[in-house]
Amino acid sequence: RDYTPRIINISYTEGSGDKKWSSTHFAWTKELEVNNKRIFGNRSFRPNQREIINATMSGNDVFVLMPTGGGKSLTYQLPALICNGVTLVVSPLVSLIQDQIMHLLQASISATYLSASMEWSQQQEILRELMSPTCTYKLLYVTPEKVAKSDALLRQLENLYSRGHLSRIVIDEAHCVSQWGHDFRPDYQHLGILKQKFPQTPVLALTATATASVKEDVVQVLGLANCIIFRQSFNRPNLRYLVQPKTKKCLEDIDNFIKENHPKECGIIYCLSRMDCEKVAEKLREYGHKASHYHGSMDPDDRACIQKQWSKDKISIICATVAFGMGINKPDVRFVIHHSLPKSIEGYHQECGRAGRDGQLSSCVLFYNYSDYIRLKHMVTQGVVEQGTSAPRGSLQEQALETHKENLLRMVSYCENDVDCRRLLQLIHFGEMFDPSCCAKTCDNCLKELRWIEKDVTNIARQLVDLVMMTKQTYSATHILEVYRGSVNQNVKKHRHDTLSLHGAGKNLAKGEAARILRHLVTEEILIEDVKKSENMYGSVTSVLKANHKKIGDLLSGKHDIVLKFPTPEKAPKMGVLDESSVPRINKTNQQQSQVDGSLASELYEVLRC
Ligand code: ADP
Ligand code: MG
Ligand code: ZN
Repeated sequence: RDYTPRIINISYTEGSGDKKWSSTHFAWTKELEVNNKRIFGNRSFRPNQREIINATMSGNDVFVLMPTGGGKSLTYQLPALICNGVTLVVSPLVSLIQDQIMHLLQASISATYLSASMEWSQQQEILRELMSPTCTYKLLYVTPEKVAKSDALLRQLENLYSRGHLSRIVIDEAHCVSQWGHDFRPDYQHLGILKQKFPQTPVLALTATATASVKEDVVQVLGLANCIIFRQSFNRPNLRYLVQPKTKKCLEDIDNFIKENHPKECGIIYCLSRMDCEKVAEKLREYGHKASHYHGSMDPDDRACIQKQWSKDKISIICATVAFGMGINKPDVRFVIHHSLPKSIEGYHQECGRAGRDGQLSSCVLFYNYSDYIRLKHMVTQGVVEQGTSAPRGSLQEQALETHKENLLRMVSYCENDVDCRRLLQLIHFGEMFDPSCCAKTCDNCLKELRWIEKDVTNIARQLVDLVMMTKQTYSATHILEVYRGSVNQNVKKHRHDTLSLHGAGKNLAKGEAARILRHLVTEEILIEDVKKSENMYGSVTSVLKANHKKIGDLLSGKHDIVLKFPTPEKAPKMGVLDESSVPRINKTNQQQSQVDGSLASELYEVLRC
């Protein structure tokens, strides 16, 4: 197999901002507006809805990036209603599908679903109805494994298609296609077959979370042609973000936080394991909260019951694994607390996104300690992270593992960053620029009112750019930082980066400084985060840093200086002077011991220096 990386180019058009799509002169405009009001009970369209509908109804493949709660469902349900034929919707969870169908039936829109867990005879009946010339179904929901594994379904779809009755294919939660994303589902990888078999049917891919790499992965795997992209800002101004150190008193801290800020209000506490969910819920009940747990290994009836009680405010706090919440539609969630480290920034953003859907002020608190990272990394490596995802095998598994680790590391660096605006840190991740002064002190870092000093970091910036070039623009930001800081771990050794002249050039910088400078280079577009596609059979994707040749010239030639603000510590920074007594004694007769002590000494030195 050839694993040489290749940079792919996918052609697509930006749809947001193109006036063509907001026109009210399409043949279907009137019918859209009438049905939006009469059937869906909406007074108007939300941002981008009209545009997306016009683009998909014009027959284009469309990719939609819209935050949770933005109203993605309407963009296919309304077209489904007014177009002839059936719209196929692929959605990852049966519970999500059932929720959608309930709403559709309430609005008297004929919809059904097929899932592997259904009785065979029932499935047959639905398929027969689809075949019939008098078929009334407007929407057919399926789970991805149905598409991947059921030939019967594909045959029926072929039949519909040949009669011109397959009006649209919708891939909901499309980020599940990508193993670079936070919620990879292997069955989504087979969905490319739909575009191959039904090239004339427009595809609409919807997601609330996609980085540049996930987006390209989705477009590639689904085989979308000249696709039009609609995207919306991911900033949620009514959410405030905090990261708190997680100590032994964590549950007390949670209790205090809720009582002080959101007494008797509704919230979600995300926990790592099923056991944690149960323990946290129990403790909160002791503290007097109406709390309950929710996780994947509970009886489905119990889960449904808890969900119902929660939506009726009989329970105010749900302690859940990430299995809870996808598509949950409760507008007045006032807080989302992470009792342990989320697995990725995208996941974190989406989980937080379940708070404050009604636009009211809500809080997102993340309790962080480094040992949760170690624990989570171990779980990821063992492939036991609860997501309904079975770990794929072979090289795909290795690739997925690398992705998980990279995602985790980014999450750790988010938590450890006690300087930059949390919004900025999240939004950069989605490829969005954000001016931190717009945060208006709604995150813990902006609240700190740090005093800043300006430092000229041009030389460091140059070294980082050089390093990216030296390593042939094929490595991720995390990897470049490791090399720059002089790491000698396996990964760095494997690629022989420890022999590079810039290996360790940044080892004397304070913690997080190099990362900030690198991030600045990315926001200034001097470096670009690009995707690298390997040509192995899985076509997996990784994120790599590349130099922007239009901009690096000025930096390298000295025309462009980079001055950044850094926080000043309360006391004047003191250079560490190691006196005899603070250096651990080295036992020279024991080689192993001396190595341990040696690294301890250098660690101590690092601490003193910062
Ligand atoms: P998403 O899939 O983007 O997370 P949904 O499609 O589930 O969001 O929509 C979220 C909520 O917004 C739903 O309750 C829906 O009824 C409501 N909604 C969608 N579009 C409109 C609109 N144009 N006007 C009012 N409410 C809307
Ligand atoms: Mg949705
Ligand atoms: Zn901020």
